[in-house]
Amino acid sequence: RLYLDYCASTPLHPLVLKKLIESSQYIYANPSSVHQMGYEASCLIEESRKVISELLNVKSSEVVFTSGATESNNMAIIGLIRKIKEKSKVTPHIIISQIEHPSVYNCCKALEKDGVEVTYVSVDKNGLVNVSEIEDSIRENTVLVSIMHVNNETGSIQPIDEIGELIQSKENICFHVDGVQGFGKVPLELDNIDLFTISGHKIGGPKGIGILVIKENIEISPIIFGGSQENSIRPGTTNLPGVVSITEAIKIALLDFNKRFNYLVELYTYISSQIKKKKEFTINSPKLSLSSPHILNLSYHQEGITSAQLINLFAKRGVILSSQSACSSKSSKLSRVLMAMSHNEVISSSSIRISLHETMTFSDADYLLQSIEEVLEQIKQKKRFAIN
Ligand code: PMP
Repeated sequence: RLYLDYCASTPLHPLVLKKLIESSQYIYANPSSVHQMGYEASCLIEESRKVISELLNVKSSEVVFTSGATESNNMAIIGLIRKIKEKSKVTPHIIISQIEHPSVYNCCKALEKDGVEVTYVSVDKNGLVNVSEIEDSIRENTVLVSIMHVNNETGSIQPIDEIGELIQSKENICFHVDGVQGFGKVPLELDNIDLFTISGHKIGGPKGIGILVIKENIEISPIIFGGSQENSIRPGTTNLPGVVSITEAIKIALLDFNKRFNYLVELYTYISSQIKKKKEFTINSPKLSLSSPHILNLSYHQEGITSAQLINLFAKRGVILSSQSACSSKSSKLSRVLMAMSHNEVISSSSIRISLHETMTFSDADYLLQSIEEVLEQIKQKKRFAIN
């Protein structure tokens, strides 16, 4: 099978797997235990935190381990709002974009039910937010702006540096970035970012481990309660094998960056140039200068074919693709992201997402292109196919 759903999850990098096995096998004591083995485990966690902080160019105390990006995003947003509500009676206001991942979007929807005000800024045809719309949306009670780095459906890269500069010029507004899809794929400095989310399993690490970088001057309250782990901000026994593994995954993601980036650009350019010749498909991802080379989103722009049908047709040829985020693809037929980019219902209901990886070869790309030909032929001949 040809797996092309690397945005949903990646295979463990062999070096990460080695770390995961070794740490699971030998370092099983609870890092919070006071005995020697517990102490050794806690030292390993602190060493990992230090390595990550140096790679991210932040302070060690600013790196907090979580169970994944969904938790990091919830922790950043709900944790900040809780803290603000503890300190002030003013109703807080948050600004996010219409195309945030469900772990940010639905978190804000839930907060709205609790009386928090939320502005959902729009995006243009390329899926990009407009910095002046963010600026115009700022109110006296705005406490948080949360904008993702790279969109998980289209690959669009948001102007994070510009937004960061804007937010840092304002008082008492915090800037959160969901960095899940951009991390290790598109360079980004964390200087003007207050809260930053990373997920392990999108970068060759295991599932169930994530990071929230919380800058020193930012106060958030915990959203779950228990012991004093992670400086009491994220209680629960620390996932040591996860921590050791995400550290290795981050090292690999950042140190091999240029080689991987250049290869993905070549691969993406080859695949997209061939797909552009097919008049039946519209490429929804913006041009490469505005998007990440690991995500290619396209739609079949004639009525009557849905994303699910396309995914099935490819799956029959062993090509594993997806459409929306794995967290929303089972629940909605129309892509919220593509609708926000002003695409019509036909485009928004027939999109597929091809996500690339450094292990994909050019002959894999040729197999994909051949499968596209076959799928188009099958649709043309109106062959019957199963719909799941
Ligand atoms: N944000 C983005 C942009 C994502 O793509 C994902 C994964 N689909 C998440 C957050 C959630 O990540 P996790 O699986 O680690 O909870």
